[in-house]
Amino acid sequence: MRDANKDLESFSYSISHDLRAPLRAIYGFSQILSERHRQALNDEGRQYMDYIVSSSIRMEQLINDLLDYSRLSRKPLIMNPVSLRKIIENVYSDYQMHIEAAGGKLEMMNDLPGIEGDETLLRQIFSNLIGNAIKYRHPDIPLLIKISAEPHLNGCVIRVADNGIGIAPEYHEKIFNVFQRLHSESKYPGTGIGLATVKKAVRMLNGSVTVESEIGKGSIFILDFPENSCYE
Ligand code: ADP
Repeated sequence: MRDANKDLESFSYSISHDLRAPLRAIYGFSQILSERHRQALNDEGRQYMDYIVSSSIRMEQLINDLLDYSRLSRKPLIMNPVSLRKIIENVYSDYQMHIEAAGGKLEMMNDLPGIEGDETLLRQIFSNLIGNAIKYRHPDIPLLIKISAEPHLNGCVIRVADNGIGIAPEYHEKIFNVFQRLHSESKYPGTGIGLATVKKAVRMLNGSVTVESEIGKGSIFILDFPENSCYE
């Protein structure tokens, strides 16, 4: 299983890497056509050309995100005791403007533990979860994100809860797959890699992630870190 995963990862890495050059050519030439030769096309031709340009921009985003996703496991892990509070404070400062603009707030429990983990991975995990809580906030309820933690089987469980739009039960597992999205790009922009990144990063730290959620009632992302990886 581990070998199969490794094969798949290096496959997706080289595919996404090698796709970039031809994609750049498609984008570059279609942009030249749509700018310099726009007058030579009729309305229909211009519309098609614009679709090609916007689709190649979208494809570049998808490929770049897929590359970042595959790169996660190509760097060696640097395991250190990391303060969860410090990670959340850093991520909060990245998003502070968005949270305040949405009239929302983020609450942290007093006794968040430290985690024996890789700081970059931990930051990516919480950045994706908090970013999503902001993006998928409820249109009519002020955003509230709560981060809490408790000991569990000699490890710890960390919960990132929001009061946003929620997720229907049939998607609770699928949303952790690469490119799995539940909304149109125009309503909520994104590439569908964020939660796959969270799942992969948590696994690399030997933990697991699940979600509890109901449509319209918010979501709780539950991170379970194993024995000996959490400390007071
Ligand atoms: P993206 O946000 O780019 O679509 P993600 O992998 O981060 O990709 O999330 C996958 C899907 O899961 C999203 O498209 C969204 O439908 C759903 N989702 C993720 N987080 C939340 C959340 N906090 N509340 C509601 N839905 C969410």
